Amino acid sequence: MNRPSWSFFGNAWAVSLIQKHVAGGKVRHAYLIHGQDGVGKRTLALKFASAIFCQSGIKGEPCGVCPSCKKVEQGQGFDLKMIQRIPGKREILIDQVREAEAFLRITPYAAEKKVVIFQDFDLANGNTQNALLKTLEEAPPYAVLILLTQQPQSLLPTVLSRCEKLELRPVGLQEMRDYLVHLAAEPQTTDLISHIADGSPGIAFRLAKEGDEILRERREALDTFFSVLSLKLHERFNLADQLVRKDTKAREQAKTRAKKLKSGTKDLAEEGLEEDDPLEEGLAERWLLYWLHLCGDLRIRALGSTASITNIDQTDQIEQYSHKLGFAATDLCYGAIEKALFQMRADGNKRMVLECLFLDLPQKG
Ligand SMILES: [Zn+2]
Repeated sequence: MNRPSWSFFGNAWAVSLIQKHVAGGKVRHAYLIHGQDGVGKRTLALKFASAIFCQSGIKGEPCGVCPSCKKVEQGQGFDLKMIQRIPGKREILIDQVREAEAFLRITPYAAEKKVVIFQDFDLANGNTQNALLKTLEEAPPYAVLILLTQQPQSLLPTVLSRCEKLELRPVGLQEMRDYLVHLAAEPQTTDLISHIADGSPGIAFRLAKEGDEILRERREALDTFFSVLSLKLHERFNLADQLVRKDTKAREQAKTRAKKLKSGTKDLAEEGLEEDDPLEEGLAERWLLYWLHLCGDLRIRALGSTASITNIDQTDQIEQYSHKLGFAATDLCYGAIEKALFQMRADGNKRMVLECLFLDLPQKG
């Protein structure tokens, strides 16, 4: 069971380890927190920083209410620096690493340590990672670097070997159900959300809070996937066009929603959840993610496996289509969608990514 002051859901072992490092004065120079979208990487990193900076005097416990904890909750603080990809740039820039280095060169202002958190560090290329390596090697004793990534395999072995690695694992189904009960989610959607969230408390939180809208969107995405398989190429391209328009419109609406969410930041922070990754994705990315999970289910059934599937409300359709498509086609779909998602996240042209995907998907009348 996690300590209440951490209010972090899942991966209790990681909280215990960090707590021991902070309380015992054994905080390392560099950590790598990795795990899937919405699993709590950023939240855990911020709680870690809070535990270091907290003014309550209880070693290794972020009180959550002192001025330091409050600041860190917002990703701010004199001795904290958050670094992420600048909007419009494809990568984390080498200059951002130099900025971190300059920040670390000056001794801490109010605490014993200075913390730099790099989000999505897999978005740094080889040169940038090498620059960080130099920072890691020459870092002053008070420096703590925390790298976050979904894809540790994209990091240089030399960077990886210098970090203490914390792999956040997906949260189990029962734990997720308990969490949704704790969130007071609608009982009739608890089971479905536990499955769809696929081990990510961040996604479960969003589904529980904005359930109806998101579940409707998902339903539309899934229905579209089944219909796309029987469309002719020019019809698929029309669909790509419609989807891009939908995405643009949703982005506009998201701006309004972001304002609303900002006022609800405290809510998210209290639940110990990250407010960034799962919420910032565009509609097209979300659709691809629904499709990826759907094809994962199709593939499981096409293999003849009775393993648990994500989209439990689509059982009949999944049975039917997995037979119709067979393993090779479902596997092909999965691979094509995974590739498209990767390209879209790397800031690829959405229309082009979707058109390429629609070219790759098999045609089944
Ligand atoms: Zn505190």
